[in-house]
Amino acid sequence: MLARAAVERTFSPGDIICCEGEVGRVMYFIVRGRVEIVKQVDEDTERHLHYAGSGEYFGEIALLQEGPRIATVRAVEDTTTLEIGQEPFLTVLGRSPSLGIRILVRMTSRLRDADQQAIEELRQANIELTQALRHLERLDRTKTDFIRVSAHELRTPVASLMGYSQMMRDNPMMEEHAELKALVDGVRAGAERLHRVFNSILDLSRLMTDGVEVRRSPVSLPVVFHGIQTEFGPALEERKLDLEVNGVDQLPFYIGDPDMLYKVFYHLVNNAIKYTPDKGRIEVVGQMVEADDLGQCIEIAVWDTGIGIAPGDIDLIFEKFYRTGEVELHSSGTTSFKGGGPGLGLAIAKGIVQAHGGRIWAESPGCDEETCPGSKFVVQLPIESV
Ligand code: ADP
Repeated sequence: MLARAAVERTFSPGDIICCEGEVGRVMYFIVRGRVEIVKQVDEDTERHLHYAGSGEYFGEIALLQEGPRIATVRAVEDTTTLEIGQEPFLTVLGRSPSLGIRILVRMTSRLRDADQQAIEELRQANIELTQALRHLERLDRTKTDFIRVSAHELRTPVASLMGYSQMMRDNPMMEEHAELKALVDGVRAGAERLHRVFNSILDLSRLMTDGVEVRRSPVSLPVVFHGIQTEFGPALEERKLDLEVNGVDQLPFYIGDPDMLYKVFYHLVNNAIKYTPDKGRIEVVGQMVEADDLGQCIEIAVWDTGIGIAPGDIDLIFEKFYRTGEVELHSSGTTSFKGGGPGLGLAIAKGIVQAHGGRIWAESPGCDEETCPGSKFVVQLPIESV
């Protein structure tokens, strides 16, 4: 009966006999020749499953499941097949239980082989990925060490430069030489800027490599913000920015590292100043909140009416050296609008907040220099983790 229902076909080497994904309404017996069965991994790659030769058959899985073909079959030699449709095949299967069992046994062993092969490939891929990760970690460590050592070595002469320029600035002679005084001021401002960058690099490398030691003591957040308001006072005035601090006076003492926490809010307020056009507004709001996973927290949010942050950047800005938009290697002041910065402030803030068991995130409707939708940075510090 099968012989009557079968259609004979011949294929040349390279011919596709049936294709993965298409609905399989027939199965094939190989009368002569040899075929390769492959699976498509992606557009350019295929995975060899196995070869089949005369006397063997293929295509029965899609036929029995009435589903798409799970692999592609290609002739590797001149091949002749007998193509059998679903109906006659099922009839024969019904009449011959032993044929059914043989097909089942073969299907099971093929599936087992395919599983084994997939497991082996996954194991190999896993080994390669782990090796690549180790290599990248080694490279990252070397790079971080290089940056840290350079920053450390360069900070010392820069500190001398700051000291000597200050001594020159304090010399009474300077009062009579306005031009010289301006030059010395320029040297001093440049040296201070360099010093700040090196300090930020060292802060970050400490946070990343040594694991930070948080020296805990009671921190008065009103004092922290008073210091920040004083430090940025001249810049706020120059840029005609309004900085308001609300609710911080009512917060309890927080048991944490005062210097580190100062740095967190220093960087957040510095950024708010930097990314808000003149005459804008910055507001700091402090309150106690109950967070699902952190329990009772001190929450401090820094809002601004600045250019905002694009949704695609909102998480990336916390990565070290990440800056949005065009990276300009200019040396404009750290408080001028969109002034230059090394892209370290938020990475440092995040490292410090996490070392205190807290979290930090940014919110913004998007980035637009015309409409200035603004940004909000929120810090939550748990009281419990102390
Ligand atoms: P830096 O300010 O030195 O570039 P940061 O790590 O402090 O580095 O910030 C990373 C980036 O995040 C900035 O380059 C800026 O694009 C974006 N950003 C940070 N704060 C704000 C803010 N308040 N408004 C808009 N963009 C911001």
